[in-house]
Amino acid sequence: MRRNPLNPNLRLSLPPPDEVPITQFLTESGTFMDGDLLVNRDGLRIVSQNPVEAPPPIRPTDDQLSLADIDLIKVIGKGSGGIVQLVQHKWTGQFFALKVIQMNIQESARRQIAQELKINQSSQCPYVVVYYQSFYENGAISIILEYMDGGSLADFLRKVRTIPEPYLAAICKQVLMGLVYLHHEKHIIHRDLKPSNLLINHRGEVKITDFGVSAVLTSTSGQANTFVGTYNYMSPERISGDTYGYKSDIWSLGLVLLECATGRFPYSPPEEGEGWSSFYELMVAIVEQPASTAPTDQFSPEFCSFISACVQKNPGDRQPATDLLRHPFINMYKDLNIDLAAYFTSVGSPLATF
Ligand code: ATP
Ligand code: MG
Repeated sequence: MRRNPLNPNLRLSLPPPDEVPITQFLTESGTFMDGDLLVNRDGLRIVSQNPVEAPPPIRPTDDQLSLADIDLIKVIGKGSGGIVQLVQHKWTGQFFALKVIQMNIQESARRQIAQELKINQSSQCPYVVVYYQSFYENGAISIILEYMDGGSLADFLRKVRTIPEPYLAAICKQVLMGLVYLHHEKHIIHRDLKPSNLLINHRGEVKITDFGVSAVLTSTSGQANTFVGTYNYMSPERISGDTYGYKSDIWSLGLVLLECATGRFPYSPPEEGEGWSSFYELMVAIVEQPASTAPTDQFSPEFCSFISACVQKNPGDRQPATDLLRHPFINMYKDLNIDLAAYFTSVGSPLATF
């Protein structure tokens, strides 16, 4: 056997003279095949006899991802805590989103964070973004997440401006299923439900992300109450510093839906076109003004009733996610067979990477 100098793994063996009949090398169609080499009138091809099987895709439970095994492709988003990049696993070709949050903390604290993130984020729910693994390196926590190729609902809303009710009902149903899972199975309050934490993909899926991340980061790094993000969707009881629970997420859901339907954040500053002069002013408005409602002349009674089942200043008056799933708004358009996949992809050209 001789080693091919161009490809040392290519085996080429010549038949010993006169010992092996030619038919063993030449097929009826005139193909010569030996070792990894195939020759016929179409040319020469290398066919591996021991094909290297594609490695199986990585699953969230594998715990075998390493930062050295991924290639950075591009930055896909920026948040207040850091950046999110599209990355590809070198060996399986799988795409992931890599979220990097800068934080300089001690070894013991980071181990605790990694542990808590794992417990908190690991989930078996199709309406929640899959968490794969997290690392601590060079003063940053890196989290590998399922890549959602449509980006966030905030990105989408910037393109479409408003979302018609039938699509909103289909989106809302998925968010509610995610919330039922978080609240009733995992006993987790999201704490930061907003359009940028609802991710979409070309399959028409809507998934909740970043639940409890801020809580884990602030509690473990000993910086409680250092919330960095938007206060826009925060419930009145949370702003007031009262105890808050799952119903706080329901308030946020109501505001998100109202914003998607109307194209503007419900608590807009008094002067059109001006921003709030301070976040304090916005917080006072949320706590003191009557709860926002959907304009009844523009939306169905079912939608308006759904919004008021969520946006109530007293958390006890808001309905839990399980009840909201049975609200007439959720199923009123089901005969239209709404195709969210077509709707999401009709707007931009997301990278279809699945
Ligand atoms: P904040 O930091 O204030 O909470 P944010 O939610 O926008 O804001 P990040 O969570 O860092 O901040 O996300 C930034 C952006 O990255 C998102 O708006 C979204 O466009 C994109 N993104 C985040 N996670 C993913 C993901 N898993 N797949 C695809 N895009 C993502
Ligand atoms: Mg986020």
